[in-house]
Amino acid sequence: MDCIFCKIIEGSIPSKKVFENEHVVAFHDIGPKAPVHILIIPKKHIATMNDVEGEDFALIGEMHKAAQQIARETGVAETGYRLVNNCGKDSGQLVFHIHYHLLGGESLGDLVGPKA
Ligand code: 5GP
Ligand code: ZN
Repeated sequence: MDCIFCKIIEGSIPSKKVFENEHVVAFHDIGPKAPVHILIIPKKHIATMNDVEGEDFALIGEMHKAAQQIARETGVAETGYRLVNNCGKDSGQLVFHIHYHLLGGESLGDLVGPKA
């Protein structure tokens, strides 16, 4: 499949991984918009949040569970962070494999997302 994030999961595109379990992988964003900018993705290819259905909703919980742990490990759990999902054209979604951006490490101000 021609999906950058699927290739990161299988290892044919390198990434700086910070978390991996049976369901979820997380790695540093290649173009960080904050001192901490991690992408959290399910191993299952799902194009957008609009496409999540049935048992896949459990994966969303797994992504949040990973986010909680990564926030602790990167030191932003206490200072605060933002989880962002871009869905579709108006959001500026570039990679059509669902992901959360975990952003923190500085005051995020009025931004509502990495591209705002
Ligand atoms: P989106 O706009 O789809 O929510 O965000 C996609 C994110 O993926 C962007 O922040 C971009 O910097 C990141 N990204 C795109 N290609 C790669 C890559 O090959 N490696 C990593 N680590 N991040 C990527
Ligand atoms: Zn994919």
